[in-house]
Amino acid sequence: MLEELRNLLVLQERDTRILSAQKNCEQGPLELDALQKKLEARKQALQAHKMEAQHVEAERKSLDLDAQSKRQQIAKSKTQQMQTRKNEEFAALEHTIAHLEAEISTTEDKELDLMERYENAQRAVADETVLFQEFEKTVLHQIETVKQRTENAQKEKASLQASREPFLAGISAAVLDRYQRLLKSKGGRAIVPVLQGSSCGGCHMEIPSQTVIDAKTGAKMVACENCGRFIYWQE
Ligand SMILES: [Zn+2]
Repeated sequence: MLEELRNLLVLQERDTRILSAQKNCEQGPLELDALQKKLEARKQALQAHKMEAQHVEAERKSLDLDAQSKRQQIAKSKTQQMQTRKNEEFAALEHTIAHLEAEISTTEDKELDLMERYENAQRAVADETVLFQEFEKTVLHQIETVKQRTENAQKEKASLQASREPFLAGISAAVLDRYQRLLKSKGGRAIVPVLQGSSCGGCHMEIPSQTVIDAKTGAKMVACENCGRFIYWQE
């Protein structure tokens, strides 16, 4: 086998692994982004439950203040009733008191309802907090794994790139240039073996017999006429 061909095969083996490491390097940040978004969404959901609880409690407190103020109005009206001697005024105050008492009753019903909603919301917050903590632990672990994998892929890529360098010297500029263009256009397969004695290992088309002979003797670099890939004879 030609020395140049041997170098090219090593180069392709390294370049294929570089491409795969590169894919892992690019995949890492995308996966990290997706994981962080997932975590953020759960955090927001938990926050929404907390807000709901706060909102319900604030509403109940406001109703409670309202009821308190009405009770004060009732007390004031009762004092006025004791002071007046006019029947008409007494009756009007009586009416006001009855009206306020009815309103307080309605408010108290609402407050009971809100208290129940608050308890439910608090329970949801407690449950969601536990679930979130478990979820967060899992996701943080996944994030760590992806980070580690990406870091390893970067190291692997750098080491492969260094390891391909010595083989470049044994390849002519023209062959190297063509190899690199093929590598890009043929998805990492620029140099392929002859299969079943006469077909191209890349495009599977029949190779002319003279080209097969040239590949066999290994005296010069040969290529598939159909796809342009370099071909070699595999012993
Ligand atoms: Zn071909």
